Amino acid sequence: KRTPIIAGNWKMNKTANESKEFFEQLTENLSVDEVETVVCPPFTSLQMAKEKLAGSSIKLGAQNVHFEESGAYTGEVSPEMLKDLGVEYAIVGHSERRAMFGEDDGIINKKVLAVLKSGMKPILCIGESLEDRESKKTERICSVQIERGLKGLTDQQLKNIVIAYEPVWAIGTGKSATKEDANDTIGFIRKTIEQLTSKEIANQMRIQYGGSVKPENISDYMAMPEIDGALVGGASLKVTSFVDIVKF
Ligand code: 13P
Repeated sequence: KRTPIIAGNWKMNKTANESKEFFEQLTENLSVDEVETVVCPPFTSLQMAKEKLAGSSIKLGAQNVHFEESGAYTGEVSPEMLKDLGVEYAIVGHSERRAMFGEDDGIINKKVLAVLKSGMKPILCIGESLEDRESKKTERICSVQIERGLKGLTDQQLKNIVIAYEPVWAIGTGKSATKEDANDTIGFIRKTIEQLTSKEIANQMRIQYGGSVKPENISDYMAMPEIDGALVGGASLKVTSFVDIVKF
């Protein structure tokens, strides 16, 4: 049985002060055991988040990370720096990073390996564009992104990975995938992982759905056998809607 995992990706939103208020309200309104809950604020709010989440079961994630350990990489943040702030998860390969910041599967693979090496867990994002979907390339795109993203990982490392299936056309558009489509594609992704590794690893890997998840549709997704959680953007920015989603 896989423990569900729901993560909020704030993207480039909230100052440290705005985050303070969010975390104070969140810890007042949410205590969860059955669902692993992760919040991924911007780097500039991680210290505040760490202080406010002390003693809570809510975990901290980062939205990005660099693959090198240290050095002349102006503007980048290392895995160790995040680990030091109590960060347990790092989102890697989000479609916005792929599309706007030139991250390809090779860079993403290096990041996955660096995150694991530091002792944190990657949330590896994959998913097809609208054009890919319309030309029936969803499975092909997802399997290539999985194969390349997970290249060179040991069985032990694979046990610490979370996958987020986020069809690009569903992100921030209000057009969410149907629960059947999301379940089918996630089932296909699990099969791909099984072929690359083993049935045991594939069966224990958690795969989230992401793309216009909100309080009104979360329970539909969570009822599907292949879907183990959600990666939530816009609806994770308000305490009330994030709490409703986690308590689906
Ligand atoms: P939305 O929930 O705003 O569609 O964003 C999804 C996402 O990109 C989460 O990483």
